[in-house]
Amino acid sequence: MYDVIVVGGGPAGMSTALVLGRARRRVLVCDSGEYRNYAARAIHGYLTRDGVSPTEFRRIARAELARYEGVELRDVRVASAHRGPDRFEVTFLGGGSAEGRRLVIATGVVDELPEIPGFETFFGRGVHHCPYCDGWEVRDRPLAVYGRGDAKGAGLALELLLWSRSVVLCTDGPSGLSDRCSTKLARHGVPVRTERIVCLEGRDWLERVVFESGPPLECAALFFNTACHLRSDLALRLGCDADAWNCRVDAKTGKTSVPGLYVVGDASRDVFQVIVAAAEAAEAAVTINRELLSADGLLD
Ligand SMILES: Cc1cc2nc3c(=O)[nH]c(=O)nc-3n(C[C@H](O)[C@H](O)[C@H](O)COP(=O)(O)OP(=O)(O)OC[C@H]3O[C@@H](n4cnc5c(N)ncnc54)[C@H](O)[C@@H]3O)c2cc1C
Repeated sequence: MYDVIVVGGGPAGMSTALVLGRARRRVLVCDSGEYRNYAARAIHGYLTRDGVSPTEFRRIARAELARYEGVELRDVRVASAHRGPDRFEVTFLGGGSAEGRRLVIATGVVDELPEIPGFETFFGRGVHHCPYCDGWEVRDRPLAVYGRGDAKGAGLALELLLWSRSVVLCTDGPSGLSDRCSTKLARHGVPVRTERIVCLEGRDWLERVVFESGPPLECAALFFNTACHLRSDLALRLGCDADAWNCRVDAKTGKTSVPGLYVVGDASRDVFQVIVAAAEAAEAAVTINRELLSADGLLD
């Protein structure tokens, strides 16, 4: 039996495994290869790794884990998980199962992209959801924002003024803006385009937004603010409390309402960054290790 089974081999899952591996725990990491940042060319904002490609990040992470004999990584999707009196059992898609004393869900989220032709094509190539991740690369260049209403539309457009003075809010239909926010946008020189968007165009990078009427909007990038959902419902099926798009956990430890079950990374928080996911996971790993020490009578 493993000490800990980790479902998810992204930054959060692998960070949990690294800390536990170094504590000489037997850890199984299961990874289905569906990474949230599949479309990104680079990871920004991770000190010492700023600008590394996601593929290279995973290669380095897996090589580091391979140093620890207690850590096993399997490229497999976990289809279900059950909680018994003193252990969890996970079942793999295609057959097989494993048991662990603790279970960590690090399965991330999926971004819901608007169904506009070109949106998915340019996702990560001029279409971005996070200014902290991708704003610097397009600083001082013309930017578009996709979103409606005061928070998702105006809020993001005004925030982007930090990166560029040339920001246009595209609401793809009625703006849903309050008078107060419309006035604020006008005061800060942010035009609002309410025409329906027909498609996004470019070559290997986004170049323009094309509307049903009116001239296309040339831009270096478009930032959007839509919803996401949990990639896996494993934690929910085990009885974990959840909000609209993430599991409810103790903010410091990643503990859920289900004893022995932890959720870390994007699946549990709303600051979506690699370094944050990895840090949360490391904190959870220390808590899990203490919990196991205590269960084994080695810690009061
Ligand atoms: C386009 C884009 C660009 C981004 N750029 C940046 C950036 O520049 N800087 C930054 O800090 N952040 C960036 N992010 C955010 C960053 O990618 C996430 O915050 C980070 O990946 C979260 O890590 P995670 O481990 O929680 O989830 P993920 O990286 O999504 O990993 C989840 C893992 O769980 C696995 N999994 C899911 N279900 C199962 C299952 N049932 N069985 C087995 N495995 C399963 C998946 O295969 C995957 O390996 C970007 C995101 C996107 C979408």
